[in-house]
Amino acid sequence: MHSVAGLLDNKQVLVTTRPFRNPHHTISDAGLIGGGQIPRAGEVSLAHNGVLFLDELPEFHKNVLEVLRQPIEDGKVTISRASISITYPTSIMLVAACNPCPCGFFGDLNKSCQCTPLQIRRYRSKLSGPLLDRIDIHIDVPSIRFKELSDERSGEESSKIKERVNQARRLQSERFSAVKTKSGKRIYCNAQMSSRHIKKFCQVNEDSKRLLEIAIDKLGLSARAYTRVLKVARTIADLDGDEHLKMHHISEAIQYRSLDRKIL
Ligand SMILES: [Zn+2]
Repeated sequence: MHSVAGLLDNKQVLVTTRPFRNPHHTISDAGLIGGGQIPRAGEVSLAHNGVLFLDELPEFHKNVLEVLRQPIEDGKVTISRASISITYPTSIMLVAACNPCPCGFFGDLNKSCQCTPLQIRRYRSKLSGPLLDRIDIHIDVPSIRFKELSDERSGEESSKIKERVNQARRLQSERFSAVKTKSGKRIYCNAQMSSRHIKKFCQVNEDSKRLLEIAIDKLGLSARAYTRVLKVARTIADLDGDEHLKMHHISEAIQYRSLDRKIL
């Protein structure tokens, strides 16, 4: 992708590390998904097999976020012009960040939010349900106080976490070694599972089924969010090295749907 876009310098033949792209929120839809007379690859294709990071998500133009939906879902984007039609790959991990409200302090334990409920609702409505549906993990990141920042204690080392992630990826690669999609393609990780694979690899017991039922009724989860909960639960179990989905894997995965909840 980077070669086609003319982004490699003379010394570089191939991109050998996963790309990380973080376009500014003023980007146009053509800049994000690709466009032009002879369609050029957009940021979503330049991030293929890597990370597309959108900071301040609600600040992006609404139409830009809308056009992002299909490429995330399909792993490819087709740009058609009168004389030419080009398909670029868009298999990405989308990472996005946003404030809880325009002033940034809604839900903060130390500072009070100055926004009106209407302002907060308007701000959040910029994140459309269909886009949030396609994001597997929503997570609140509370602000950190100076005392915690200057704390000498260290958490788990990144290298150890990386090893755990690699192990989970190996597990998934083995699980899917004989699994193909309907079009005959191999799959490598939980995110690529279709509903057929979910039925086979994400079986839940009666207790977990009840928990899912309550969560769906209470949080009003969509069918898409439901399958995402199961996929994330599968990954949590893989990180635990657990072959079977247990109740705590499911409940943790449900926790990650915080933006589906009706907060206001
Ligand atoms: Zn606020």
